[in-house]
Amino acid sequence: MSTIKRILVTGGAGFLGSHLCQRLVDAGHDVICLDNFFTSQKNNVAGLLTRPNFELIRHDITQPIWLDVDEIYNLACPAAPGHYQYNPIKTMKTSVLGAINVLGMAKRCGAKVLQASTSEVYGDPTEHPQTESYRGNVNCLGPRACYDEGKRAAETLFMDYQRMHKLRIRLVRIFNTYGPGMHPFDGRVVSNFIVQAITGKDITIFGNGEQTRSFCYRDDLIEGMIRMMNGPDDFVGPVNIGNPGEFTIRELADLVLKQTGSKSKLVTKPLPADDPVQRKPDIMLATAKLGWSPTVPLEDGLARTIEWFKTIDLGRYRPPTPNY
Ligand code: NAD
Ligand code: UDP
Repeated sequence: MSTIKRILVTGGAGFLGSHLCQRLVDAGHDVICLDNFFTSQKNNVAGLLTRPNFELIRHDITQPIWLDVDEIYNLACPAAPGHYQYNPIKTMKTSVLGAINVLGMAKRCGAKVLQASTSEVYGDPTEHPQTESYRGNVNCLGPRACYDEGKRAAETLFMDYQRMHKLRIRLVRIFNTYGPGMHPFDGRVVSNFIVQAITGKDITIFGNGEQTRSFCYRDDLIEGMIRMMNGPDDFVGPVNIGNPGEFTIRELADLVLKQTGSKSKLVTKPLPADDPVQRKPDIMLATAKLGWSPTVPLEDGLARTIEWFKTIDLGRYRPPTPNY
């Protein structure tokens, strides 16, 4: 039997999606990248357009689409707070209708389907570190709810399709991931701090900067995601994929200043509503079931990311979304 698969990646032109497409194309699979370019640009996959086993479709996943594939990675959804809060109703539709559309497609053609879920399903967590069995602390009324509740509803739909229709599903809960290919104006902390540092602007710390995040390098994350798709049939997840190294936002700012040699000043700005105080994945399940653990420490990943940011022409990217 051929090991070459037909694989659909929704949100395939985005930060993570474009890297995933690259990995899958390089492995010889027939890859369809579907994207509406809301938070990305065609340029992100320009290097793949001449590859015979790569195809690009401009499509909005809130609308049904008829494709025949063996596997689906469902990544379509704005991921940065500024992006997903730009049109919260659309964000919720993308998560929920998007899930219904990919699950319907998977049911019809028998595809295995992986959902890119998020640590945001844990909300502002009261358990630390977060294990997959923790049920979370999400404010369903706040400005982050469009994303958090959309992703929670998508997980519910995946589980129900599995129980009702015996669909082969996978749920991956992704923790803060960074690396080359991030949108320079997405407002996420790593991209913000690097762009601010290399352009000599003030580094904006929200709140007192003592809130923590755990940052996973892009390549580690994609490796975990691919292992999960190809992992044992009786392990559908959810599984946390992230780097347990935990840093305060102030520590991150200091590291970016040190690595860029920038003279930018640290300034404080108000903390956005419902901003989680602490976040760190428990990855014991990923290690036990998939043999996965991250290999790139923050210092190394940050250095690679800074190098990439220095090579790009910021003028070629759409300006910041109005939320930040
Ligand atoms: P991204 O914004 O770079 O990529 C998302 C892609 O989805 C973009 O190319 C965008 O244009 C596309 N998209 C958005 N709405 C769409 C729609 N309605 N139809 C078709 N395409 C649509 O973000 P990313 O960081 O690459 O995140 C990819 C996935 O991983 C998302 O589902 C996100 O929720 C999840 N995730 C990412 C992180 C992270 O730290 N990067 C953390 C947790 C979860
Ligand atoms: N943050 C910050 N300055 C910025 C952007 C973000 O201090 O310029 C903080 C933000 O308040 C949050 C953390 O950095 O506490 C991570 O923010 P990001 O938007 O990257 O991701 P998320 O909050 O979704 O984890």
